[in-house]
Amino acid sequence: MSSTVQHYINGAVVSGGERQADIMNPALGAASGQVALADVATVHQAIDAAEKAAAGWRDVPPAKRATILFEYKRLLEENFDAIAGLITREHGKTFSDAQGELRRGIEVVDYACGAPELLKGEFSKNAGPGIDTWVERQPLGVVAGITPFNFPAMVPMWMFPMAIACGNAFILKPSEKDPSAAIELARLFSHAGLPDGVFNVVNGDVEAVSELLTEPRVQAVSFVGSTPVAEHIYRTASAAGKRVQALGGAKNCAVVMPDADLDNAASALVGAAYGSCGERCMAISVAICVGDETADALVGKISAQLDGLSIGNGMDDGVAMGPLITAEHLERVRGYVAKGVEEGADLVIDGRDTVPAGLDGYFLGGCLFDRVQPGMTIFEEEIFGPVLCVMRAANLDQAMTWINDHAYGNGTCVFTRDGESARRFTDRIQVGMVGVNVPLPVPVASHSFGGWKRSLFGDLYAYGPDAVRFYTRTKTISQRWPDSRTREAANFDFPSNG
Ligand code: NAD
Repeated sequence: MSSTVQHYINGAVVSGGERQADIMNPALGAASGQVALADVATVHQAIDAAEKAAAGWRDVPPAKRATILFEYKRLLEENFDAIAGLITREHGKTFSDAQGELRRGIEVVDYACGAPELLKGEFSKNAGPGIDTWVERQPLGVVAGITPFNFPAMVPMWMFPMAIACGNAFILKPSEKDPSAAIELARLFSHAGLPDGVFNVVNGDVEAVSELLTEPRVQAVSFVGSTPVAEHIYRTASAAGKRVQALGGAKNCAVVMPDADLDNAASALVGAAYGSCGERCMAISVAICVGDETADALVGKISAQLDGLSIGNGMDDGVAMGPLITAEHLERVRGYVAKGVEEGADLVIDGRDTVPAGLDGYFLGGCLFDRVQPGMTIFEEEIFGPVLCVMRAANLDQAMTWINDHAYGNGTCVFTRDGESARRFTDRIQVGMVGVNVPLPVPVASHSFGGWKRSLFGDLYAYGPDAVRFYTRTKTISQRWPDSRTREAANFDFPSNG
């Protein structure tokens, strides 16, 4: 029997909106239920609840907020596998991969538990004669987050634990493709003792998002998704006077130097390119090999690993790669593969032919292109599927130029045993997150996550210390207690210590 995933507002599941969309199980190619799509009235209901809750939550001591976060962490651990199962059934990624994303999300909750330390202000005694100055961080009020399908738990958790730890009320608009994990995350937070209305989930599509972007009571918007939508969100919400961080798409290149450990590099690349069916914003989708010898060897090693790649339902044991998210996306990725062939790249492994029989979901085998050139569509655009492009560069400088000239700048990595190459690469590459023999350099929760160029619109990154900056505004207070026994004359000069 199919059920409808609703909204979570003011501590309860509520219905709202006439429209619905199907939630698909991408491994089965069949609908598993529906999701309600919020109308403007439902969004207003969430904003009303959040506004009311924010007024009280701002005054709850950070140490008390932390005790609720500690309990929330305990409940997340207790329900860990149930949430991971929801992710796999709606997203399609393998169960162990879903556990991995949830683990990284919980690490943000761990970091947010440090709220009393994170929110400490700054103080200067005798900033002027008898004047003490301090800087305090105040919450913004009602803030919103809009998240993509590919990490239905982790990306929301990049946002709401930090926003809430900082004293705000949060409204999450998750992806309509896999909304169930978000509702569960909200329900558990209530059970941990979070006051009603501090965390709300509004399911929906463009109608709900448009209202969140322009409603005056929403003070800030965090967005993660594709670049065209990120740019639209950034422009619209900042024109409406809001603080905005909008993280977009990516084309992450790894450089493989001739001195690299090629067996380990090949394994690292297979995991980073085909894990989660390539639907990660930090997936490596291009391997730039320095020298033909490096390229020939690497293509051989990757091909051998792809040969035995186990594709199937992510809930089944031993499966390495699940399906793509929708039938439309499968067609889009297949279209990119055809385009690569048409534009002259060498399709070494054609995943369109390697899907095991009997799978009705949106499956595509791992694809491997060689001799990809700058200017080809499969290099310039984000494919977001299990397609790895190998390019052949003459030297490190040429590889770095291709990366630096690219429109995206989310993640990158160099495989090498040479410290000098690694140092030049990390210093000069125009990308926000860089690995040295680390294929997916996703920062841990105590650092912040963000790309450069068209991979991020805004100034502050997600989670970590930047999240404290994003979800608070500073107020600087100067205080003096004059001695009432001393009479003071008016001073017409600008006050200074001179
Ligand atoms: P998407 O941009 O289609 O959707 C993201 C969110 O925006 C969803 O909640 C969706 O409902 C909403 N949305 C979609 N179109 C909209 C519109 N026209 N106006 C307002 N809202 C709209 O992205 P997706 O397909 O869900 O996710 C995949 C993309 O996200 C990829 O490009 C990937 O690289 C990117 N991503 C980036 C990061 C990062 O940290 N930079 C992380 C994860 C995913």
